[in-house]
Amino acid sequence: KALWAAGIAAGLLALFWRDTFNPETISGARVLLTGASAGIGEQMAYHYSRFGAEIVLTARREAVLQKVTEKCLQLGAKKVFYIPADMISPAEPERVMQFAVQKMGGLDYLVLNHIGATPLQMWDGDVEHTRWLLQVNFLSYVALAMAALPVLMESKGSVVVVSSISGKIATPFATSYSATKFALDGFFSSLRHELAMQKKDMSITLCVLGLIDTEMALEKTRGLVYMDALPATEAALAILRGGATRAREAFYPWWLEPLCYVRGWFPSHWDWVVGETEAQKVSHSA
Ligand code: NDP
Repeated sequence: KALWAAGIAAGLLALFWRDTFNPETISGARVLLTGASAGIGEQMAYHYSRFGAEIVLTARREAVLQKVTEKCLQLGAKKVFYIPADMISPAEPERVMQFAVQKMGGLDYLVLNHIGATPLQMWDGDVEHTRWLLQVNFLSYVALAMAALPVLMESKGSVVVVSSISGKIATPFATSYSATKFALDGFFSSLRHELAMQKKDMSITLCVLGLIDTEMALEKTRGLVYMDALPATEAALAILRGGATRAREAFYPWWLEPLCYVRGWFPSHWDWVVGETEAQKVSHSA
């Protein structure tokens, strides 16, 4: 009984400890946000603006970035700039970082959020697509973070990496996407250790998200996934809070964290549950 009580008390304490977000810490913070033209990235741009940050937005579509910029200014952003860039090009991360540092005079938050489009389907053997997706979803994150490290060390800043439950637990129909998200966890969790070993005061937050109601996600999962998608604006706020409180990981919704533990403790039971669920879907659609 005593152990249970201690466990519950520790859990509540951990929840309370985590919830130390102070919006004032964002006021005037210098943020580089990728994938900012749509979905969760767009919502993050609006939250950072409401809290009075300076922001550089990036994605490929200039006209959309322009519109998001205007709305950010209306919402109270201190300054907003945008730079169109396609993260398939290995030269773009360095160019985007230089632009951000030149415009804002430094950097406090690097928020890595963009993803390339990938279908939700059984692996079709398209290695070229996997290579392309690794460049957009993983290697460009690494290059952006490496270009930002010197400035973030100076400002004692933060890297915020947006990942997915597919980067913690493998499920069918997401082979390449899942691989890119697992790669992010491996790379940035290892880097977090190395920074700590070197006593660098810089945080790395890995954000693990469930199904979120962005246009892209709803379109891809329609007729295939039967679960409620959660609001992008709340997911965006959870990511912002995770970064601002320098959490090592942030989960949205919260129950994904215990789900990861359960999967870790009972891997073959988990595989059985996934197998049964997918088999039922296949037999229903046949
Ligand atoms: P969206 O597809 O809505 O937005 C993706 C963003 O990335 C857009 O701003 C897009 O803008 C940009 N982008 C796409 N391709 C490139 C490229 N080649 N170079 C640069 N930018 C690019 O995605 P979500 O908002 O749904 O997802 C955001 C993050 O959340 C991702 O990391 C995703 O893995 C994660 N996530 C989302 C979930 C969901 O259910 N929505 C679930 C779990 C995790 P543009 O077209 O203008 O380039």
